[in-house]
Amino acid sequence: MYSKQTESQKKSIHSTIIKKVTSLAFETGIIRAGRQFWSKSLTVLNYHRIDDPHQKDFDSFSPNVSASPEEFNRQMDYLARWFNVVSLQDVINWLDGRQTLPPYATLITFDDGYLDNYINAYPILRQHNFPAVIYLTTGHIDTDTPFYWDIAAYCFFHTKADHVLFPNNTERLWKNSGERDKVSHNWIEFMKALPEIQKQNWVSNLPNQLNVSIPHDYFRKLMMNWDQVREMHNNGIEFGGHTVNHPILTRIPPNQARIEIEGSKAEIEKQLGQPIYSFAYPNGKELDINTSIENLTDQAGYRAAFTLLNGPTSFQEVKQNPYAIRRIFIGHKHTLPQFAILVNPINRFRA
Ligand SMILES: [Zn+2]
Repeated sequence: MYSKQTESQKKSIHSTIIKKVTSLAFETGIIRAGRQFWSKSLTVLNYHRIDDPHQKDFDSFSPNVSASPEEFNRQMDYLARWFNVVSLQDVINWLDGRQTLPPYATLITFDDGYLDNYINAYPILRQHNFPAVIYLTTGHIDTDTPFYWDIAAYCFFHTKADHVLFPNNTERLWKNSGERDKVSHNWIEFMKALPEIQKQNWVSNLPNQLNVSIPHDYFRKLMMNWDQVREMHNNGIEFGGHTVNHPILTRIPPNQARIEIEGSKAEIEKQLGQPIYSFAYPNGKELDINTSIENLTDQAGYRAAFTLLNGPTSFQEVKQNPYAIRRIFIGHKHTLPQFAILVNPINRFRA
């Protein structure tokens, strides 16, 4: 017990020091050191949800919240000062040789299609006059079909149980809501590693396992509907594909991957009455993409696709392979100085 406390005290001293150093680097401008060497690169930000995960009835998956509206606004102010925000159309025009891109070009993107993008992010983007791209998982738009992480988070939040079974047959207990949240996040993370079918089985059994019933249409309010998509589309927000059902594309048969990649494109084009040009890979890490997935994306008619590997991508690299453009993942625990570090090219070399 004693040694555990010492460990956590050490950790907290360590993180306080890092926070102080980061703030100092932010205030003095050191945080932007070296950026001029990467001025000819595309910095792409990746957001998911813009909301307050600390509100007391927040019962969906909180790690998916990228920033509160206030923090998002501060981040947009920072971009306005230090970057040149471009649209996806600008990037496509540049790829096709029809225009140039400014130095410090930045693209703002959102994944999945949560309603809070429309309610909270869209007004802030409009205030800044910033374009952005939202990648839609079309099977979840305008439906009551939640993502598995949100069903799981709902069940953990509302259960009266104090334990859960993991697929490796271990049981995990909790004594309070803090411990329960940790178990919940671990359980959801554990699901990612399972084959799709097994994952679906575990998730569909979870309400039973935790003795929770989910109200009809509960999740419809979590996602955007097509009218909201069209309204934003008419006002400077662009849309792209993010599959139909959000599988990790390297873990399903190639033919199914093709259906997922093409399916989201066809549905968005039908709803907007216009072609779309870009795609974001679900999960987007190294093991979630490979050359054949990139080729499928190319063959589906997309002109560019985005990963979740750290850092900016140089203009030259984007031209060489527009199907592996890097994006910087933003999370709600990031402070503004940490955000400034994430958008520094040095982030490219972070593990
Ligand atoms: Zn996603």
